[in-house]
Amino acid sequence: MMKIIAILNTGGAYVASMGVKPIMTIFCCRTCGTSFPPGETPPATCPICEDERQYVPAAGQSWISTDDLARAHRNAWQHHEKGVFGIQTMPAFAINQRAFLLQTPSGNILWDCIGLLDAATEAIIHGLGGVSAIAISHPHYYTTMQDWAEAFAAPIHLHSADREWIMRPSRSIELWDGETFSLNPDITLVRGGGHFPGGTVLHWRGAEDGKGVLFAGDIVQVTPGANQVSFMWSYPNMLPLSVTEVRAVAERLSRHSFERIYGAFAGQNVLRNGSDIVARSAERYIERLVVGR
Ligand SMILES: [Zn+2]
Ligand SMILES: [Zn+2]
Repeated sequence: MMKIIAILNTGGAYVASMGVKPIMTIFCCRTCGTSFPPGETPPATCPICEDERQYVPAAGQSWISTDDLARAHRNAWQHHEKGVFGIQTMPAFAINQRAFLLQTPSGNILWDCIGLLDAATEAIIHGLGGVSAIAISHPHYYTTMQDWAEAFAAPIHLHSADREWIMRPSRSIELWDGETFSLNPDITLVRGGGHFPGGTVLHWRGAEDGKGVLFAGDIVQVTPGANQVSFMWSYPNMLPLSVTEVRAVAERLSRHSFERIYGAFAGQNVLRNGSDIVARSAERYIERLVVGR
């Protein structure tokens, strides 16, 4: 048997310099975007999608290599305010969330992650100063975080309560415990819980107007009118959280003041009164569950 003596990361395809198994591929689940350890064939199942908080499509599970993903899609950028760029894949891929690049005096932070890291995205981010740290709200957005971490030599900060959902090990992953984690003087990760036990939001106090900004992932879901938010255990299966859980999420977020909220999806931007909107929305949700109609 020939021995594989070196493995080079060529942006998805792992190519052995000598050996009988020349191509090892990173496959992503097309439904949720999660990447799996390199292999010759896709995994049998996607545990993230088999979990009740996601779903397996009626037509069955399917996969795409990171190379094919890069051939078929592009990332679009949006400047939301000073120091805040949204990054989203076009045409839509998997859950279709957006990631954010936050520029802070202590370095750029990648908040949440998307499956596609193509050469253009890599070059743009390097041009903007790289990434000093990656933080992700919950397992639905872990996607190809391992490749982003490697490309920018950045650690990935995940809440330890969700460690069982890490599908592809990486030496860049650093787990944190407890209720908050200070990423840098401007940025605090806050465990909101709810949708996932380790469900995390990012609080930024470095905005130009001096007001707090919340990056919410799926932990707080901004509704279409951008004047309410919601909280769910499973969004695709429309399964709510309990009164106790909603109350706990709202209580944890009440310790942090924020004016704006950037949700997981395009257009989900609360531009004013963010703290009040979260508190009021939680009260309304609890009222609906307890009182009903
Ligand atoms: Zn999946
Ligand atoms: Zn989610």
